[in-house]
Amino acid sequence: MKEVSVFLRLAAFVLLAFPVLAQRPCATDALFRNKKGSEYFPGGRIFESKLKEISTQQNKAITTDNDSIYYIPVVVHVLHYGEAIGIGRNISQERIQSQIDILNQDYGKTPNSPGYNTFPAGADTRIRFCLATVDPNGNPTNGVVRVQTTQDAFDLFSQNTILKGYSNWDPEKYLNIWVCRLLGNFIGYAQYPMISPQWADSLPMVPNVEDVQPDGVVIEYRVFGNVPNGQGAPFGVYNKGRTASHEVGHYLGLLHIWGDGGSCADNKTDFCSDTPPQATYTSGCPSTVESCTPGVPALVENYMDYSNDTCMNVFTLEQKKRMRIVLRNCVRRKSVASTTQGCEISTGNPPKPPVLVKKLYLEFVSGKDYLNVKSEDIKLSEINLYNYLGRKIESIQISSNYATYPYQLNLAGLSRGTYFIKAKDTEGIYRIASFCH
Ligand SMILES: [Zn+2]
Repeated sequence: MKEVSVFLRLAAFVLLAFPVLAQRPCATDALFRNKKGSEYFPGGRIFESKLKEISTQQNKAITTDNDSIYYIPVVVHVLHYGEAIGIGRNISQERIQSQIDILNQDYGKTPNSPGYNTFPAGADTRIRFCLATVDPNGNPTNGVVRVQTTQDAFDLFSQNTILKGYSNWDPEKYLNIWVCRLLGNFIGYAQYPMISPQWADSLPMVPNVEDVQPDGVVIEYRVFGNVPNGQGAPFGVYNKGRTASHEVGHYLGLLHIWGDGGSCADNKTDFCSDTPPQATYTSGCPSTVESCTPGVPALVENYMDYSNDTCMNVFTLEQKKRMRIVLRNCVRRKSVASTTQGCEISTGNPPKPPVLVKKLYLEFVSGKDYLNVKSEDIKLSEINLYNYLGRKIESIQISSNYATYPYQLNLAGLSRGTYFIKAKDTEGIYRIASFCH
C-alpha cells in the first residue's frame, strides 16, 4: 500500500512538473504534496480538522470575526539578470504597483474594477495589501528590493531555497513576493500556511524546517502585475496579475477549487461549501462548464481555478472565512496581518491625526461691538462661537484669500455670559478660547 502511495505521488509530481501549456501552471500543490508533514498544511488532516473546529465555533458564535480589515505589508524581491530597471526580469516600479492594485481590487471586490462580481456568494475579503514603507531596520523603503543574480532562471523544486536566499525579509512581518524567471513553464507557487505551535503542541512531529522558511510567494516575472505586452504562450493569457491573486490565496490557506482531483468520482474538496465541486481545473474561459452537481455551473470565475486572467473575479464568502481564520491563527500570518510596517499609510487609510489644540488670541476693541480673532502663526479656515451650554451661535467660513484678517466676530445682540470660540486652522488643527461678555 505504501509503495502504491509513493508511486502515485511520484506520478502526480511528474505530471505537474511538465504541465500541459493550456493549463495555469501553478506549482503550489506539486511542491507540497512531495513534502513530509503535509497534514499540517491546507488539505492535510490535522490542518483541516483544526480549521473546521474554529469555523464551527464561528457558526455557533463562540468565536467571532468582526470583519475588520487586515492589512498585509508586501516586499517584492526582483531577482534580475543584470537588466536595467524596466527591462526584462527587472520589472518597473509601475508594474509592481499595478500588482498591488490588482490584489486590492480582487480581494476587495472593488466596484468598477476587474475584481468586481455579482456572484451571490462573492465576497469582499476585507484583506488589503500595500508595498511596505518601513524596512526591517526601520528605514523608509518603497517595498522593492532589486537583486542581480547569477542565474538565468530557477528550478523551483531544487532551487526554492536558493532563489529565496538572494533576498528575504522577516516573514513574521512581511509577505515576501519573489519575482524571477522560473523554469518548466511554471508561473507561480506559494508557501502554504501551517498550523500554529499551540495546535501542534500535542503532536509527535513538527514539519521540516525547509517547509517553514523562507515563507512567501514566487511569481514568474512575465505574469507579474498588469503586463501590457503579450508574452507568448503560456504566459499571454495570464497578463492581468491574477497569478498573484491565486498564489496569495494559497499563502492564505486556499486550495484549488477542484480540490486537486481528476474527476467527480474522486470526491475531492477545497473545504469551501459555496464553491461547487468540479471534476478538474478549467482552461480558458468557457461559459458552459457544469460542476459535479448536475445543472449547477462550475465557478470558473474563481481565482483558485486555472481559468484565464480575464475570466477571474470571485472569491467566495467561505473562502473569505477560511483566509481570515488563517490570518487569525496561523504562524507568520497572524503576525503579518497585525504588523505596522507602513501599510496603514500606503493603502490610503492614514491613521487619524491626533486632535491638537493650539492657542487662539482674542482682541477686544474699545467702543466696538466685535472682537478680533487672531491666530499668530497660521491662518484660520473656520471660526465657531458657542454659548456656555455648548450651543453653536455663529459660524464663519473664511474664504481662501483671507482678506478679512484679523477675523471680526460680531458681538451685537449677544446676552451677557460666557462664550467659547473654537476655530480650525488651515492645517486642520483646532484652537479654542473663551471670553466673558
Ligand atoms: Zn494554485
